[in-house]
Amino acid sequence: MSVRVRFAPSPTGALHIGGVRTALYNYLLAKKSGGQFIIRIEDTDQSRYVEGAEDYILNALEWCGIVPDEGPKTGGDYGPYRQSDRKSFYKQYADKLISEGKAYYAFDTPEELDEMRERLKEARMANPQYNAISRNQMKNSLTMSAEEVNQKLESGEQYVIRFKMPKNDDVRFKDVVRDWVVVNTTTLDDKVLMKSDGMPTYHLANIVDDHLMEITHVIRGEEWLPSAPLHVLLYEAFGWQAPQFAHLPLLLKPDGNGKLSKRAADQLGFPIFPLNWTDPETGELSKGFKESGYLPEAFMNFLSLLGWNPGTEQELFSMEELISEFSLERINKSGAKFDIEKAKWFNQQYLKNKSNDELAQMLKAETNIDVDFELLSTIAGSMKERITFISDIVESGDFFFNAPQTYDEKTVNKKWTTEAVHKLTDFANEMGQLENISPEEAKEKFIAVLSKDNTPLGKVMPALRLALTGAGGGPDLMEIISILGTKETASRIRKAIEVLKTSN
Ligand code: GLU
Repeated sequence: MSVRVRFAPSPTGALHIGGVRTALYNYLLAKKSGGQFIIRIEDTDQSRYVEGAEDYILNALEWCGIVPDEGPKTGGDYGPYRQSDRKSFYKQYADKLISEGKAYYAFDTPEELDEMRERLKEARMANPQYNAISRNQMKNSLTMSAEEVNQKLESGEQYVIRFKMPKNDDVRFKDVVRDWVVVNTTTLDDKVLMKSDGMPTYHLANIVDDHLMEITHVIRGEEWLPSAPLHVLLYEAFGWQAPQFAHLPLLLKPDGNGKLSKRAADQLGFPIFPLNWTDPETGELSKGFKESGYLPEAFMNFLSLLGWNPGTEQELFSMEELISEFSLERINKSGAKFDIEKAKWFNQQYLKNKSNDELAQMLKAETNIDVDFELLSTIAGSMKERITFISDIVESGDFFFNAPQTYDEKTVNKKWTTEAVHKLTDFANEMGQLENISPEEAKEKFIAVLSKDNTPLGKVMPALRLALTGAGGGPDLMEIISILGTKETASRIRKAIEVLKTSN
């Protein structure tokens, strides 16, 4: 049977990076096995629906390169792929369970439900919920006569359909990540399957759709593990084969203390969503990974290793490599600590591997910078070993475009000496007479000036850098001279000599 997996987000807000990782792992398994990756929008809870969230989720996955074979935009043979468009599918399944005595109608009002919970809490019941014991005291089709139930249904009284949880039974299932999971039904409640508004709940819709869409593996976050026993029981109740389950480990805060939340990310100052997201209720803008300067391929590589390991020391993986290396068996059991420094490291690696022209193109697209393309490409080449984000080329490399206004004080104090100024004056005079030169020629000229009286390179080089860039460190100095040109080099040296006092 061909592998069919789904990512099933609820459009209740932006897509958290944990959700992106879930989508990625589903995608990798599908592509590795030559199967299908499906996106299904789970929007049965109308009260939590957030305008714009569905589009956001689909756009974010597209930016990540996680392309569905079937989904709300793509279509497919198992559609529709939005649960609100499948509303008419679900009732018949709930009815089937009722007719077989595996589910029942419940007519309790919200007040009656509250009262029940209070009563059970007061009596110190371990599980104060609507369950195999408490249902016997409630208003439902198990406690009422068939006549009474029919009358209520006919008169249009509001009801829900609940699952009749078996009493004191062990539910067992094998999870690919966690191995055997055993839960006793005493701890489980009679979950609502159909709500009074005629919509199915997540649990019913999810199982019916996974079955109808012929899903073979359910790969989702650990937060859904508590729902899995009910899902297994629902498959049994319908007489359907359950898919294989894989519950992914949590993404943890950088210190490993607790789940990575939006609040934690905000406090620590890093993004948690792939793209910018403006909360439609509060108007609050959360910056995305994309807009913070991360490349999608670096972001994917980084996320792939948060919960999965290749079993080797290799860290850099293209999407193709991830597809060929990925396996569910190598998903870790324990939570994965989120480390933004690692995300930056991946971005550095991917930027370093881009050609100078690619970097220049990206820079043009991102900053609208008005600089000759070839020059920009050379500048990008000289900066690419030292950048984390593409914008660093113009930020840390500002001296390529503008003469320094200030000079690093520490370097001035230590390295701006009479001797250095003397040599720099000679060098500026040399430069002033030349047309543009290559880095090699610049080096030759510089060494020629120093060798007249055997001045060591280290005595003048830092001062030269200071005069040209204002800083104590940076990319290759001879490349900088070649890029700035001889006239600009001479003029910056003269300006620095005018502005700075020598230390000795
Ligand atoms: N709609 C659920 C969510 O928002 C899907 C959980 C599942 O994959 O079963 O994550």
